[in-house]
Amino acid sequence: MSIIKLDQNTINHIAAGEVIDRPSSIVKELVENSIDANATNISVEIKDGGISLIRITDNGDGIEEGDIKLAFERHSTSKIKDTVDLASISSLGFRGEALSSIAAVCQVELITKTKDAMTGYRYRIEGDEEKAFEEIGAPDGTTFIVRNIFFNTPARRKFLKTASTESGYISEIIEKIALSHPEISFTFINNGKTRIYTPGNCNLKDTIYSIYGKEITDNLVEVNYKDENIEISGFAGKAIISKGNRSNENYFINGRYIKSEIISKAIEEGYKFILMQHKYPFTVINFNIDNKYIDVNVHPSKMELRFCNAPEIYPVIVETVKDALTEKENIIDAKIDDEKQVEKKIDRKPEPFETKRNKVEVKEEIKPEKVSNKPKVNYENIKPKKDEEVHEQMTYDFLSEEARPKHKIIGQVFETYWIVEYEDEMFIIDQHAAHEKVNFERLMKRFENNDISSQTLTQPIILNLSMKDANIVEQYLDNFNEIGFVIEPFQGTDFAVRAVPSELYTLDSEDVLMDIIDSFTAEIGSMVPNIITEKIMSMSCKAAIKGNTKISFAEADALIDELLSCENPYNCPHGRPTIIKMSKEELEKKFKRIV
Ligand code: ADP
Ligand code: MG
Repeated sequence: MSIIKLDQNTINHIAAGEVIDRPSSIVKELVENSIDANATNISVEIKDGGISLIRITDNGDGIEEGDIKLAFERHSTSKIKDTVDLASISSLGFRGEALSSIAAVCQVELITKTKDAMTGYRYRIEGDEEKAFEEIGAPDGTTFIVRNIFFNTPARRKFLKTASTESGYISEIIEKIALSHPEISFTFINNGKTRIYTPGNCNLKDTIYSIYGKEITDNLVEVNYKDENIEISGFAGKAIISKGNRSNENYFINGRYIKSEIISKAIEEGYKFILMQHKYPFTVINFNIDNKYIDVNVHPSKMELRFCNAPEIYPVIVETVKDALTEKENIIDAKIDDEKQVEKKIDRKPEPFETKRNKVEVKEEIKPEKVSNKPKVNYENIKPKKDEEVHEQMTYDFLSEEARPKHKIIGQVFETYWIVEYEDEMFIIDQHAAHEKVNFERLMKRFENNDISSQTLTQPIILNLSMKDANIVEQYLDNFNEIGFVIEPFQGTDFAVRAVPSELYTLDSEDVLMDIIDSFTAEIGSMVPNIITEKIMSMSCKAAIKGNTKISFAEADALIDELLSCENPYNCPHGRPTIIKMSKEELEKKFKRIV
């Protein structure tokens, strides 16, 4: 067989296969181009999963008339000039391959105008064939309309999935890119319906809220760290919003959405102490790493990059994540404090990038108006004092197996709190929060092991529901059943509860079941199914613990035993603390025995 040199058209087709494999890769490339063009507003509209139409509009720099055709040629880019530039890339694109690849396999229309030009231009190119080039009135910025992906390569079109699956991929890409650029407002419209809108107000929490909703946003802790090699910022989700897969692990390097096994592993390692096996966290974390450590030139579509200082930054990521979570998940220190001092602490806002060691405490739990009420108790989080060791001692002493026999259960106050003396400290355990936590973890473990058991009620409970509540119950019936409820439609809008989860034997009255249903709010509709199940689980555990109950010493002993064996004994599933502590020294100071 003789050797021939391939013609440009064939070369472009082969190259296009590397960059463009489905509609979502077109969206990714074009949105990244808009970001590189300094857009502050980017809208993506698709039809039929992007297979028949993708329209991307930005208010960025636009393309000059003389550059338009060139932009569609292979390896033509305005972003780098030579290998020197390649070593310090700050733009998302640099290969100059996307437009030529898209034009090789789609019908493309471009409308663009720069700020300085009098008019805009319209250019049409289909399967590398130029169709039109003309002046046109247009706003500043660029619009790409991409029609009929793989119209000239039907074999590749067959590999596409259904429109709804393809639009799911697109939605996911836009979510990740929007999270990595809170300074840009993104809109995503699928078949005429707006699916994503982010405000572009530079506030990452607002961006998270607009994508994931209230439940997730309410359960975040801030992550902040900075040294000479790396700057880490963003949010880490509390254990309650973890998931059974990694799809909510969002992280970015220098504004670039990437996949990295090392970063993923480091984040999960940092979470190990609060997450159960096969649970993955919610995170939105930005890593700023000096470009000299990074090689983005890995593969056009794999979203991977290499960084040469991975061994050094791995432990930093682990510790930063752990630190952020520790502050919120820990036992709470009940310090009786000066009122003014408390308020001063609350007023203090965190600086954008404070170093880990100087990190400022964010007092989210305490609202200033509550603090001014008497008694003046400052429920301050235990923080690592000078080093990690002190903190480890404080939390795991008390909780270790060796420590357990030395616990002295003093008694119960207000039919709610159990006081336990251990060495030089007094621990106060909220019986209800503890019960809730123990039940929740028990139920969760059974759920994860597919080992849910139900207790049949001798007499079914009939729930007389309003139309609205009946709709809710019907809609989430599967989630209820998954954790051991047996609920069936009865008559009209009534439902019969025939069994309840075995752990929650106290759930045998209409009252407590109604509590669960009442706590359903509109926001639950925006949650993903497994969060809904978890939410029902946590609500059930809360409902199961009603009223002040007197329990015996032996029962308290057993409860404490079980609490301390929980994966995270410090908080109830709703984030309230289960244990607080006060040191002997603190008491002695109060009684002025010592100064
Ligand atoms: P790359 O992004 O790697 O440079 P592309 O093929 O994606 O390559 O784009 C080629 C060039 O077209 C870019 O370098 C840029 O100059 C120009 N371009 C593409 N999209 C836009 C846009 N939305 N706004 C302004 N310029 C754009
Ligand atoms: Mg590009």
